[in-house]
Amino acid sequence: MMKQKEISEKEKDDIRTLMKFVGVFCRENHNGEKAPFAFRLLDIKEIEKKEGPLCPDCTRLLTYGLTMRLKCPQNPKPMCKKCETQCYHGEYKAKIREVMKFSGMYLIKHGRVEMLYHYLR
Ligand SMILES: [Zn+2]
Repeated sequence: MMKQKEISEKEKDDIRTLMKFVGVFCRENHNGEKAPFAFRLLDIKEIEKKEGPLCPDCTRLLTYGLTMRLKCPQNPKPMCKKCETQCYHGEYKAKIREVMKFSGMYLIKHGRVEMLYHYLR
């Protein structure tokens, strides 16, 4: 059995934020078939219990985002914008920008500003 990687509180925060942003984006923009999100590198339910199901595209994006977050070589992690590593490429980069912009606006409109502090920190 492989031992599961210890996840720091900061990593958990980032994971929650990422899930929240992709979750809002998918709920507001995508219809069609959705499935509950599952992630093979860690037990997501221990971190976030109340996220809704995602479409296949958003599942792919979130899986990518979480994988990159857990692999992040920088410690402490800088804001992604200012980071030299730039782990989002091509379609993922365009997509995550769209998600952050949309969900950021959505959360402001709905008074969920504390989520933004997490993201911008
Ligand atoms: Zn979606």
